[in-house]
Amino acid sequence: MLISNDLLTDEAKDLKMATREFCKREFADTLKWDETQNMPYELWKKMGDIGLTGMMLDSEYGGMGADALLAVVIMEEMAVFSPAVAMSLGAHSILAGNVINRAGNKEQKARFLPDIASGKKIAAICLSEPERGSDAAHPKTKAIKNGDKYLLRGQKIFITNAPVADIFVVYADTIENGKSLGVTAFVVEKTPEITVDKMHKMGMRASPTGIVFFDEVPLSEENILRGIGEGTHIMMEGLDVERIGLSGENLGIMKGALEVASKYAKERIQFEKPIISYQMIQEKLTYILSELELNRTYLYKLAKLWNENKGDKKLRTATAISKMRSAEAAVKCAEEAIQILGGYGYTSDYLPQMYWRDAKLFTIGAGTSEMMKLIAARRIIQGFNEL
Ligand SMILES: Cc1cc2nc3c(=O)[nH]c(=O)nc-3n(C[C@H](O)[C@H](O)[C@H](O)COP(=O)(O)OP(=O)(O)OC[C@H]3O[C@@H](n4cnc5c(N)ncnc54)[C@H](O)[C@@H]3O)c2cc1C
Repeated sequence: MLISNDLLTDEAKDLKMATREFCKREFADTLKWDETQNMPYELWKKMGDIGLTGMMLDSEYGGMGADALLAVVIMEEMAVFSPAVAMSLGAHSILAGNVINRAGNKEQKARFLPDIASGKKIAAICLSEPERGSDAAHPKTKAIKNGDKYLLRGQKIFITNAPVADIFVVYADTIENGKSLGVTAFVVEKTPEITVDKMHKMGMRASPTGIVFFDEVPLSEENILRGIGEGTHIMMEGLDVERIGLSGENLGIMKGALEVASKYAKERIQFEKPIISYQMIQEKLTYILSELELNRTYLYKLAKLWNENKGDKKLRTATAISKMRSAEAAVKCAEEAIQILGGYGYTSDYLPQMYWRDAKLFTIGAGTSEMMKLIAARRIIQGFNEL
């Protein structure tokens, strides 16, 4: 028996199964999407039809109202089939959509959320800049007060979904009379003043990524989320649930690696025996299983704690540990799966090489492994009562 499964509620088990069945039907071309660096646009509509695009959004705006555990199981199951599509979905719903859900006023929610929830419009979140990556809380992008408007000027980079996005959540330094009023979060629809260059990547290739140029985009009060200078707070309060949700993908990558590699090892004959009969192959499979089970048990428990103690900063260290360790384990598990498949694992016909390239992103995106270690180190420096 796997302990991790024992932590799931009936609702989470059902949703996990439903996501898996959906992906089995709709994700047959995942390797082709990886090769062509494109996912089909119709997939957004199909994910919308079963509620996935609105996963963490309030039901009154058409969302599923999923909690952190439900988000984790969706991301886990989808990542078995396509970590890239899961990442695009996560950026759309768990990151951008969730910011509007949390920080938007009634009018903003009514205007933006129904189309995000249904998948009719695609959302992107814009924090990172060419010169502000790990230090994203100090953007160089500016929103400069001009009469009763703000003009948004600057550049964001590595933005998931940007090449196909209709709605952007953007963090910018807000300037009035030459003085900074702090970082503000804006929600803005695509206008001619917003242009995007598509980026080419080693992994997560089905998920479109872009550099976004904001060239004097006119903004008004209607675009401001919560208030001027509230951006950093909005950014920080969402960090934990975003990292918990996205880390679900690392579980999916480990699970996919185990499924593919164990099936292959049972079928592949060398020296007149299936290679699974060799202990060095068993050791690799056991390693993947143990990383999956340990990381899954920790992440499911963490997601449940987050549901019970929403916004409790005490979970930040646990979230950082989970994100860092699950990402590093996913890379290593995918690599072991490639090894089990031998030369076939090195070809683009099999999933493990895609998992490996995709998993690497999670040691970088949404806070690098080094930044996660810094968060955990801060806790060690403060000292523990509970060790
Ligand atoms: C495919 C992909 C999708 C992404 N999607 C989005 C998105 O949708 N929206 C968005 O806003 N961003 C997105 N990002 C950006 C991502 O969040 C950043 O790449 C990440 O935060 C790191 O920033 P950076 O790349 O500028 O690296 P840097 O911050 O320049 O870091 C470079 C290296 O230095 C290390 N480093 C930096 N500071 C320290 C320190 N104080 N101590 C020790 N080491 C340090 C880092 O860990 C890293 O190893 C995406 C990135 C990728 C690759």
